[in-house]
Amino acid sequence: MRVLTVIGNRPQFIKASAVSSRLRARAEEITVHTGQHYDRELSQVFFDELKLPPPEHLLGIGGGTNTAQTARMLAALEPLLSDLRPDAVLVYGDTNSTLAGALAAVQAGIPVAHVEAGMRSFDRAMPEEVNRVVCDHLSSLLLVPSKTAVDNLARESVPGRVEEVGDVMVDVALLLQPACRARTEALEPYGVEPGGYLLATAHRAGNVDDPARLAQLVDLLLSLPDPVVLPLHPRTRARLEAADLLRAVEAAPDLHLAPPLGYLDFTALLCNARAVVTDSGGVQKEAYLAGVPCVTMRPSTEWVETVETGWNALVDLDGERARAALARPLPRERPQLYGDGQAGQRVADAVATLAG
Ligand code: UDP
Repeated sequence: MRVLTVIGNRPQFIKASAVSSRLRARAEEITVHTGQHYDRELSQVFFDELKLPPPEHLLGIGGGTNTAQTARMLAALEPLLSDLRPDAVLVYGDTNSTLAGALAAVQAGIPVAHVEAGMRSFDRAMPEEVNRVVCDHLSSLLLVPSKTAVDNLARESVPGRVEEVGDVMVDVALLLQPACRARTEALEPYGVEPGGYLLATAHRAGNVDDPARLAQLVDLLLSLPDPVVLPLHPRTRARLEAADLLRAVEAAPDLHLAPPLGYLDFTALLCNARAVVTDSGGVQKEAYLAGVPCVTMRPSTEWVETVETGWNALVDLDGERARAALARPLPRERPQLYGDGQAGQRVADAVATLAG
């Protein structure tokens, strides 16, 4: 039994690390790295730190528009699928690599398993939302992290089999957050103390590609009440430079820029932050798991439960709303959402039945 896993960006390496070794105990897994993220800081460091087996195939397809990138991935995957003839293709999340992997597989008559199926922000302006919807409708096996996702898929009447397995990113967070919390040396380069700073991340196309939105984002970050540590995504760095905003950000005394960090240092900064300010999907969830409040610089989220429980606030790019959210008292309850940390095993078991 052979499973071809298609991954290509940072969160996918993290998610695959919860599944890969378990899947390899049950099936032959061959990994294709599309090259969507190729810098060492966004790719190799996660293979090393999270002990993800190195990919058997590297497509080297990064850059370009979403459409052009997806098209190049499809063209590269087609001959690979016809050579390798896997019994199933496994994809994660909502990126171009997810969509290309799923579509190429279905065109070749190979069943698709989608991890993190059923997530919806209901915002079709986000390229990720379009990728999710299409991929879910192409998949034979939809592995979902939450009850909300089950309900979303029921409403859309997807043809595939839906299984609620929990969230594979939660597996990694629950395993590594306790040790990372103690890794306070990760804070030293920024001169901040546990509980005395905010951790920020920003890279969504909707926030950084439009110079006017980007300027609003910078204003928001510069108006926050505590020191801010900002590991800068390469896309955001490039957009700041192009908009002539990078120097202002570098010069701000309470904004400490960092390169994109490995999982362990990033998680150390997350667990010790007073709060997180982000437009990331995964980081909203990781903040919840760490008991760190989150302010999300987006108008919508797929991780609605984090908002409903009071741990996350959607502020878009409104600085006043962000500051108000940061002043709120912490909620008392933090129920277990998104599973028990065993999702990776359930994914491996379910995929093995599909491929068998
Ligand atoms: N992350 C990391 N280093 C960083 C920023 C993020 O290791 O400098 C991790 C973070 O812990 C989370 C994942 O990358 O697990 C989130 O990735 P990203 O925000 O790029 O993607 P999204 O979840 O928004 O698709």
